[in-house]
Amino acid sequence: METRPINDVSYEAYLEEEKLMGTTCRSCGARFLPPMPICTECHKPEMDWNEVGGKGKLLSFTCIAVAAPSMKEEGFDRNNPYCLGVVELDEGVRVVARIQGVDALHPETIRIGMPLHKKILHRGEGEHARAVLAFEPVS
Ligand SMILES: [Zn+2]
Repeated sequence: METRPINDVSYEAYLEEEKLMGTTCRSCGARFLPPMPICTECHKPEMDWNEVGGKGKLLSFTCIAVAAPSMKEEGFDRNNPYCLGVVELDEGVRVVARIQGVDALHPETIRIGMPLHKKILHRGEGEHARAVLAFEPVS
């Protein structure tokens, strides 16, 4: 049914289309997000794409004040830190992503276990366009 190769390029192309896609091992059923072309559990290469709903909860997080260059371009710095978190999705897979809509200057206000939903960010234009997976609190 799905003919796109399992790699980062396809994963980003799905993100551009607002789809969060992981892979499931045909042999043992292990699920991966971002997608893996080979199962790290049973080492078999037969993987299928599966769409992940995008709802989950915050497992852990960190607030980053010394921003990577791509984040500096978006205006993040010591005075405007950003939050990165590990999100456990309802399907059981865990993914590291940017957490939006939280106060990274006051991390004590960010709660472990808070419900989140996916928010795909579209950055850049033309050939520099890219989609970034983020999550934000369910209001
Ligand atoms: Zn497997």
